[in-house]
Amino acid sequence: MSEEHQVIRVAVLGARGRVGSEVCRTVEAAEGLELVATVDVGDELDVLVAAQAEVVVDFTTPDAAPANVRWCVTRGINVVVGTSGFSEAKLAEIRALLNQHQGIGVIVVPNFAIGAVLMMEFSAMAARFFQSVEIVESHHPGKLDAPSGTAVRTAELVAAARSAAGLPAMPDATADERQGARGAEVEGVHVHSVRAAGLVAHQEVLFGTVGETLTIRHDSLDRKSFMPGVLLAVRAVGGMPGLTVGLGTLLGFDS
Ligand code: NAP
Repeated sequence: MSEEHQVIRVAVLGARGRVGSEVCRTVEAAEGLELVATVDVGDELDVLVAAQAEVVVDFTTPDAAPANVRWCVTRGINVVVGTSGFSEAKLAEIRALLNQHQGIGVIVVPNFAIGAVLMMEFSAMAARFFQSVEIVESHHPGKLDAPSGTAVRTAELVAAARSAAGLPAMPDATADERQGARGAEVEGVHVHSVRAAGLVAHQEVLFGTVGETLTIRHDSLDRKSFMPGVLLAVRAVGGMPGLTVGLGTLLGFDS
């Protein structure tokens, strides 16, 4: 194989966004990657084909991303998705599409920060030992969706671990509630979303049982925290046909 072929041709969707612009800078500086196209609102996706992009990185909006993924997969382009909002139903659609386009890979990652991946792993590990668990996620006020994709994924992992351990429902005597006071319920886990200027992306997973609590907390203080994970996924996706959710398998975890 010639050296030219070893370079991965990468394009970024949402290139003018907060994370997308950081991804562009990171790809440009990375060894073995070439930034061949940048696309934002109003740009034609056809440039991705014209630029012969092999991997597209999507950091757009929950509304736009599913159609972007479909567009890329049907044209034989691998995709790394950071955009939030991919429910089980949307993931199932991608899986079905990929069945018709064998050999193409899509990696959907709720959080690219290594600390956040570990927070989810540790939370799943702790879940069976505690009667109660609640999640508090806090983000910058420009975030469009609530709860965050990371919080949803954490709630799913924690709920699965509780269910596998046969734990009963969490104790909660609330009988009179002002709407929203107990947060959103995701798989039976209460998730509270804070939006405040100055924040980037933060999450606490609060466990409680008789006489003790455990808090697992992660803070992304800079969008640079997502970049090592993005590079890992970009380099891997071409060799991972089908749908992969989360960075766990790339980092050697089960989930
Ligand atoms: P942002 O600053 O609003 O960036 C999104 C960009 O995408 C904007 O420039 C937007 O343009 C553009 N866009 C919207 N629709 C598009 C389309 N159809 N085609 C191409 N570009 C389009 O948001 P952000 O803070 O970068 O976050 C982007 C997404 O990543 C969010 O869903 C966020 O929750 C998620 N996120 C994930 C991780 C992770 O680790 N997985 C980390 C951080 C953020 P306009 O502004 O003109 O609409």
